[in-house]
Amino acid sequence: MSFHLPNTRPVSSSEQVNFHCKHCGACCRHVRESVPLNTLDAYRLAKHLRGHGEHISFLDEIFARHAEPVLLDKSGYTVYMLKSTGPDDDCIFLDGNRCSIQQAKPTACRLYPFVAEPTQDGGCKYLLSMEQGHHFKGGQVQAGRWMKKFFSPEDREFMRIDMDSAPLIALLMRNVPDSEQKRAIVQYLWYRFSDFDLGRPLVEQYRRNTEKLIAALKEMQKREGQNGH
Ligand code: SF4
Repeated sequence: MSFHLPNTRPVSSSEQVNFHCKHCGACCRHVRESVPLNTLDAYRLAKHLRGHGEHISFLDEIFARHAEPVLLDKSGYTVYMLKSTGPDDDCIFLDGNRCSIQQAKPTACRLYPFVAEPTQDGGCKYLLSMEQGHHFKGGQVQAGRWMKKFFSPEDREFMRIDMDSAPLIALLMRNVPDSEQKRAIVQYLWYRFSDFDLGRPLVEQYRRNTEKLIAALKEMQKREGQNGH
């Protein structure tokens, strides 16, 4: 499974890029199925919304209320994107031209106009989003400094676990026997988006859940192999 990000170009960490946020809200409109809400984003959002009086007991309530699933692979490999609303497909958190969850906005929004991707050597490469050309006039920002400010060690660790495990999980899901397919999808959704304690740090739970998911998928294949003999 490969992820292709359209309208981007590689950028070095030392490169200076013309960028100035005009607070026009343009990046937050026409965003149907395009703003990813990963599990760490949802966890932070849950805490933020709780702090603002929203009753949230479980992480999957965030996904159910504020996001929608998008199938990335026919195996059932799914991600969540923020919901949008209205004739312009505004992000549901857009209030006028402002983000109403500024302190807890998803990683993709925090990093904009940059995108981070893990590399084989344990580092990160950066891409520059080329959409919204009117933003690329005015101030200057440096990719490396931007990332230092907005992309925390916790974000990096989460992204690495997520991206490193994605190809194997998708492959295992593709290879589970038909009789186990529904169960594999249920397990995937449970370990990726649901089985988290909001009172404990997220990244370690995500690592543990990823290991459990991989073990469960391998077990399904093994059982089928044994049944077939
Ligand atoms: S979460 Fe905030 S910054 Fe991100 S698209 Fe929605 S309104 Fe815009």
